[in-house]
Amino acid sequence: MLDAVCQYDETKPITYSVFKFQKLSDADIEKYRQALLCPACAGKAYYRKASKDGKAACFGSRYHQADCAEFKPFAAKEREEQHAIEVNQLLVDSDAMIIDFSRAPKMTKAKTPSTVTKVLIENETQSNSTATTTSMPADLSTVELLKPELTGPAAVKIEDETSTKKRVATQGLEKVLHSLLRGSDLATSDLWVYTDDKYRWRAKNLFVNFADAEPTENGAPRLYWGTISHTDKERLWLNPAETKDVGIPIDMFASSLISRFGLEERRDFEGAGIILFGKCFWNKAKSRKIIQLWSNDVSRLFISKADDND
Ligand SMILES: [Zn+2]
Repeated sequence: MLDAVCQYDETKPITYSVFKFQKLSDADIEKYRQALLCPACAGKAYYRKASKDGKAACFGSRYHQADCAEFKPFAAKEREEQHAIEVNQLLVDSDAMIIDFSRAPKMTKAKTPSTVTKVLIENETQSNSTATTTSMPADLSTVELLKPELTGPAAVKIEDETSTKKRVATQGLEKVLHSLLRGSDLATSDLWVYTDDKYRWRAKNLFVNFADAEPTENGAPRLYWGTISHTDKERLWLNPAETKDVGIPIDMFASSLISRFGLEERRDFEGAGIILFGKCFWNKAKSRKIIQLWSNDVSRLFISKADDND
């Protein structure tokens, strides 16, 4: 993407070429980079500076419309759309979804979308006799012990439902993130999503884009997602592209981000998609919302680096 529209002043949008934008002062770049849009489809965009090893500066967006002419490169588009299709199919085929936080990220750009793991949870009587031999990530005995979810008292135990078989899919954070970025139905779905053995949520209450992040009562967690615009110079914080009101502290686990996701320099963060299980609260001055990774546990976070354009 060679051009981006800057809406820092909403009454006076300015179109920048990447060549012009990269010549702005550091201060102006920091000021404008969270106000960028795709010139073709108006999706939220990001700026990525030139790399030390010669990759050119570029604009990009994780929110292009599917038919946007600026949606490149093709491999990333294909992979993310495949993930969105898989998750949408899962919504149709499944009664619930377990988030598998243990799935390790692939450091290489594998282009092999594996099929969704389907786990059939049998009805109560059958399950009781087979529970000890099953290798399912959550067998019915744990499902039955569900406590009401954190969001309210309306939890319905699966055992109360009348159908004999529950279809529970297991999915890792990468595909969940890509499907959300590609606008799948997950964000508005009523599907039950399990974040561990005890807690489940309606998908529409669990997944929150950074633009909609609000401090929750009692610090109840959510799965917050969106795009990284940039980090601060010391790499203590991530700044989302979707809003200026949110900051994500990373200093407690910065070294894990290098080993787990290959995020070594500031440029690696720019334009990356991110999803994290965490809590949202106000800073002391009530000027900014903080999203803190749950227990600083990096397995509850996934970052999808932006591909290098062109
Ligand atoms: Zn676009």
